[in-house]
Amino acid sequence: MLHVLNHPLAAHVITHLRDKTTKPATFRTLCYQISLLLAVEATRTLATEEKSIETPLEPMTGRVLTAQPLVVVPILRAGLGMVQPFLDIFPDVSVGYIGLERDHTTAIARSYYCKLPQLAGRHVFVVDPMLATGGSAANALSVVKQQGAVDATLVCIVSSPEGVAEVEKHHPGTVIHTAAHDRELNAKKYILPGLGDFGDRLYGT
Ligand code: URA
Repeated sequence: MLHVLNHPLAAHVITHLRDKTTKPATFRTLCYQISLLLAVEATRTLATEEKSIETPLEPMTGRVLTAQPLVVVPILRAGLGMVQPFLDIFPDVSVGYIGLERDHTTAIARSYYCKLPQLAGRHVFVVDPMLATGGSAANALSVVKQQGAVDATLVCIVSSPEGVAEVEKHHPGTVIHTAAHDRELNAKKYILPGLGDFGDRLYGT
């Protein structure tokens, strides 16, 4: 199930991310901002519970997040750019890492690292900025499910129709949050219009 972020600020930020003249330092700031918006959107269904408090004026019953440890799992390396907003806004979050490298000739993902916390019974957010072929995302979703994640949500900044279809094929019903759903992949499996190689632009490589 694809959710496309629909917010003027998201449109503004994504346009500057796409702009090839945007330098890495600004790109990182924009990546933080769009990931924060996506993190808020992706956690809209988190459970809350009542809490009695007193304001300076009177007692009242408010709502707070129910204790429900979240896990954010970036796909290395570009996914790292999306982690900090989750750490900043959620009180109880663990981070796991999955290293998948895209072979630039075949565009097939190869696993080179996996370090995950306890996933059983936890909400897992797999984060990867570019959902291109969907190979890495489908692979990462399989890994976190094998480790016991009950519901794994995919959060990406730009998605392609091919990537969404691939995830749906291997993990039907997966909730995918994206800030932009683009037209297609080119022959080299880059997203069009896209924004180029996210990792390279994030880290200036
Ligand atoms: N990865 C990227 O960084 N960009 C694309 O367009 C596709 C995959």
